[in-house]
Amino acid sequence: MSVVDEKLQDIYDEVLRRNPGETEFHQAVREVLDSLGAVVAKNPQYAEAAVIGRLCEPERQIIFKVAWVDDSGTVQINRGFRVEFNSALGPYKGGLRFHPSVNLGIVKFLGFEQIFKNSLTGMPIGGGKGGSDFDPKGRSEAEVMRFCQAFMTELYRHIGEYTDVPAGDIGVGGREVGYLFGQYKRITNRYESGVLTGKGLSWGGSQVRTEATGYGLVFFTDEVLRARGDSFEGKQVVVSGSGNVAIYAIEKVHQLGGTVVACSDSAGYVVDRDGLDLQLIKEIKLGRRGRISEYVDLKGGTATRYAKEGSIWEVPCDIALPSATQNELNAADATSLIANGCTIVAEGANMPCTPGGIRRLTEAGVVFAPGKAANAGGVATSALEMQQNASRDSWTFEHTEERLANIMRGIHDRCMETADEYGVPGSYLIGANIAGFTRAADAMLAQGII
Ligand code: GLU
Repeated sequence: MSVVDEKLQDIYDEVLRRNPGETEFHQAVREVLDSLGAVVAKNPQYAEAAVIGRLCEPERQIIFKVAWVDDSGTVQINRGFRVEFNSALGPYKGGLRFHPSVNLGIVKFLGFEQIFKNSLTGMPIGGGKGGSDFDPKGRSEAEVMRFCQAFMTELYRHIGEYTDVPAGDIGVGGREVGYLFGQYKRITNRYESGVLTGKGLSWGGSQVRTEATGYGLVFFTDEVLRARGDSFEGKQVVVSGSGNVAIYAIEKVHQLGGTVVACSDSAGYVVDRDGLDLQLIKEIKLGRRGRISEYVDLKGGTATRYAKEGSIWEVPCDIALPSATQNELNAADATSLIANGCTIVAEGANMPCTPGGIRRLTEAGVVFAPGKAANAGGVATSALEMQQNASRDSWTFEHTEERLANIMRGIHDRCMETADEYGVPGSYLIGANIAGFTRAADAMLAQGII
């Protein structure tokens, strides 16, 4: 497959050559390069200083062993990663993912996305990502704690409030951030609040950080609707996933007058024509870390059903918010959404739509909002947490939520203005990629060949 611009094709070929087999990373790079043709044509200095090629090479890639002992006394060996991708705009910033699918290619794709996402927020944060192939599912509290402590025993030497600031992602929430922070503090003998974000409210965390990715996604989608003279009122919405992003996306959609009729986990999806009962989902997923299939029995009635087979994207909706994981919505899913009249797809997860899925959606005139814009509310609120930590302050929920809403509006408008400027009005995808790129690229140019 060829990338539009010849110079960009060379960069892409080099990425393929240097990173064999890392298909998700290739996909993430390609999606950005595909958007940059007009920028390099207009700004030859980027090519002269090889800014794009440099952006595709992580500044530092750390891979380490995590050995720990499980409850039965058996030694477990996992692999830990931290990819410090780009620090032109600030300390490396991005989450940690604990999931059996994690490998270097996955962490690189996520770290690469994070550069542009963080840049788009307009805040002083670079891009990075990390994680492990550790699977928290089915592990006891004590095992999760010991794993987190073993993981931090290596990671601590690479991070710091001015260096690299991890947070959560899939499999890493408040509980894990707590264990990680405790171990960092124990090893370094420093109460360095700004070294991690997503902390508990009583020990340096920020209001709204838990809700931020989901709320931000819905604020962004609300801006998309507003730009079309529309609102969430009366809209049917499908949100895939039932983790941190999905749960708070559902909450905000309901607050804004929409109805979420389906959500999922890795085993299947539930449909509730009356609108999902979020309290029940929170009890199942947050309370006892159970399966979404339990919803149907607990809710009762005839409006609900659970499906193990098929795709959640077959459920009719006006708006789809894929918020589970990468590549969960392909061309066939896009076809189902289009046939059922869906008009907006906004990504709550990182890269949930495949390139074929995005192509089909955009060709059919469905508005597509890429994750690096639509799900940036999480990391943006992490940056607000860092601000509060730096000033030893803590803000109210209302103030923080308003800041988040303003940030999402700013990202929306930046995408639209950039898309207009480059002759692709209405393209959130190209607008996000170009706006995210230029801020980071200009900082790199200013800082020399480093
Ligand atoms: N993991 C989240 C993301 O994908 C948040 C990262 C952070 O807060 O640093 O953006």
